[in-house]
Amino acid sequence: MYHADVVIAGAGPAGSTAALILARQGFSVLLLDKASFPRKKLCGGLLTWKAMRLLEHLHGCPAQTLIEGGIVDTVTDGFALYYRGSLLSSGRFAYPFHLVKRPVFDNHLLTLAQKAGARIVPDCAVLRCSPEGTVSTSRGDFRGRYVIGADGVNSTVRKCFRLPRARWNNNLAAAIEITVPRDAIPRITNHPELHAGILATGYGWVFPNQEGIVLGICGLKRDALNFRDAFADFLRVLGVEDPQTFIREHPLAGHPIPYGNALHDPVRGNVLLGGDAGGYADPLLGEGIFYALLTGWYAGEAVAEALRTGTHPAHAYRKRIHSFILPEMRGANRLRWLLYGLNILNPKNLGRYFRLRGDTLAEMVHGMRSYDWGRKKQWDF
Ligand SMILES: Cc1cc2nc3c(=O)[nH]c(=O)nc-3n(C[C@H](O)[C@H](O)[C@H](O)COP(=O)(O)OP(=O)(O)OC[C@H]3O[C@@H](n4cnc5c(N)ncnc54)[C@H](O)[C@@H]3O)c2cc1C
Repeated sequence: MYHADVVIAGAGPAGSTAALILARQGFSVLLLDKASFPRKKLCGGLLTWKAMRLLEHLHGCPAQTLIEGGIVDTVTDGFALYYRGSLLSSGRFAYPFHLVKRPVFDNHLLTLAQKAGARIVPDCAVLRCSPEGTVSTSRGDFRGRYVIGADGVNSTVRKCFRLPRARWNNNLAAAIEITVPRDAIPRITNHPELHAGILATGYGWVFPNQEGIVLGICGLKRDALNFRDAFADFLRVLGVEDPQTFIREHPLAGHPIPYGNALHDPVRGNVLLGGDAGGYADPLLGEGIFYALLTGWYAGEAVAEALRTGTHPAHAYRKRIHSFILPEMRGANRLRWLLYGLNILNPKNLGRYFRLRGDTLAEMVHGMRSYDWGRKKQWDF
């Protein structure tokens, strides 16, 4: 059995951030991942203002350094919103989006954690975890005074919480995404596009990057019958004449997104959940990288404090989740319900909403304003 102050399962943005915070403060950290890095991760890689600010604050990585180091692939301040192929709104945001390629980005964060002193254990699949802090893996048993479960949306660590599966699944989104050469679709696209009217509760996206364009859809699983058909429909909307041949030439890949299942209590015994494992992605756009960084930080800080003082991290971790994250989840969920549930997602209403509230909406997405009624947001970083 290997021992450490903290065992972290999963080396995505949540796990690597928690590892960085703890290792920096001198605690022994084992960071386990079933993959060896750099590894693939299906993701649009779009970072908002709040994510960029956090990367500077926590990781010491200002935007310019990330761009110069090739970690950020594309910077763009343009956007366009479509409803089934008809342009509703387009323009420029005051603050740009930064697009990363996840294998490069995640590997960068992992390297920072390693340099700070965390020990990385690759090819190590977590099989079971006990609330007391024993983690059984394909490479033997590990014991931490605390365990942070950051092993993604299908978390194995979360199983020790014994949560009702039906409730979790009810708010799960399915996402499909592929990267294709720019000339694979007939339309020229130079900035991120969002497409409404593709799924009952969800949307499609087109993100151009250096390699080509990322095409994706994401929506509540319970509201869509067949995501492959929905993706074919999306391709048709984008002007692709023969979607089935397109799909044969560019095989689809899918992965779930927690889409409204943020846990109110992410602590059991000595185990804390962060990132997708705790359901922390926003239920409107499915933005999860920022919340993975944020919960990784909160969990790392709470555990460091507990180890220093001999207290328990639950109170400190829950407090920050409740103060800063859950209001965003509730607000984004409310906005989703207004848009989809009340069925105002038709071209006329959506266009009008965007014209009236476009700037506020942009600031909500970036995090200068809260999804909670558009109030100015005060983050703790
Ligand atoms: C198609 C798609 C597009 C997206 N686009 C965006 C976007 O543009 N912007 C955005 O902010 N968010 C986006 N998201 C969401 C974002 O990808 C996630 O919210 C984010 O990756 C969560 O980070 P994490 O660290 O919690 O988990 P992950 O990044 O999923 O990392 C989890 C890690 O745990 C490891 N792991 C899993 N199981 C085990 C196990 N049993 N044992 C050991 N290790 C394990 C995995 O190998 C992985 O390295 C998208 C998601 C999808 C599916």
